[in-house]
Amino acid sequence: MDISVLPLSADKMKAKFKDESHLGFGKIFTDRMFLAEWSAGKGWHDARVKPYEPFVLDPACLVFHYAQEIFEGLKAYKWDDGRVALFRPEMNARRFQTSAERLCMPEVPEDLFLNGIEKLVSLERDWIPTAPGTSLYIRPAMIAVEPVLGVKSSDHYYFYVIASPVGAYYAAGFNPVSILVEDKYVRATPGGTGEAKTGGNYASSMKAGQDAKKKGFDQVLWLDGRERRYIEEVGAMNMFFVYGNHIVTAPLAGSILAGVTRDSVLKLATTLGCTVEERPIDVNELMADFKSGKVTEAFGSGTAAVITPVGKLCYKDECVSVGQGVGRLTQRLYDTLTGIQTGKIADTFDWVRFVA
Ligand SMILES: *Cc1c(COP(=O)(O)O)cnc(C)c1O
Repeated sequence: MDISVLPLSADKMKAKFKDESHLGFGKIFTDRMFLAEWSAGKGWHDARVKPYEPFVLDPACLVFHYAQEIFEGLKAYKWDDGRVALFRPEMNARRFQTSAERLCMPEVPEDLFLNGIEKLVSLERDWIPTAPGTSLYIRPAMIAVEPVLGVKSSDHYYFYVIASPVGAYYAAGFNPVSILVEDKYVRATPGGTGEAKTGGNYASSMKAGQDAKKKGFDQVLWLDGRERRYIEEVGAMNMFFVYGNHIVTAPLAGSILAGVTRDSVLKLATTLGCTVEERPIDVNELMADFKSGKVTEAFGSGTAAVITPVGKLCYKDECVSVGQGVGRLTQRLYDTLTGIQTGKIADTFDWVRFVA
């Protein structure tokens, strides 16, 4: 499908940031956006890059009432040689299709997904910051825009992409976070939508996050919805526990998100001389392993923050802490992953895709 480029008048162009050290996360957006529409009986049509501007939507649109929405998150990096790199965007394209299927939304063909992103990023390349830890965060999303109150899958959708220059995800820097194991609320259950990247999962997890914040924790670690016994994931991160040179993470059994970073960590860790294991992790055993010192490091993985070291973990009335500062392997995985993404370390996995 052809992607047209609508003109951007000078008065629609925003002032670009001057200070790359205070970008924050997802607060400012570039001048343009990508938009394609799907209509019943017609399929995908009108793919275009256009000025970034608000949607005018009927208040009855399905997305506002029944939350038919999915999204993705990936980053573009500007290398020292001027090339612009995306990290494993094909995986985001495939996951977007999986999410769409689960939410009864139309599948976005992989080439429409990738070409839409590339066209936008190519036109907005001057917006990509270059200071260490910064990047252009790309947010594809799909929403149901048919104005009708009946519960049904929509006959009209917007697939759109916006982009935001971002600094390091955590304002405090690469510092260990404190995490509360949630034993009251659940994020997902077998058969639910935990495996789909959909806004509803976040809406329903905010209560637990808010309660944990009041108690002084940064994040919530979810347990499985059936027994509240097995470790699932944290907010927008998959979790890893390091036992010396052995790394353990929860299996993709349907209720956790299959992170691109998770997959990359598993593959990278092997080349760094570690053994990796995907298995159900019993929270009681995990706490015991922390206490006996068997768990040497813990970290989360996700596109936004890349790797986040965990400093403290609390479950019921008990808290355990891990090491001092950032663990050796955690730091090495972070350095290697960001090194590949920014062109400082050779990409032996063929993960990088350059924007023309
Ligand atoms: C996006 C997301 C992740 C991380 O996935 P990446 O592809 O590594 O960014 C983990 N958990 C949830 C719930 C997410 O939405």
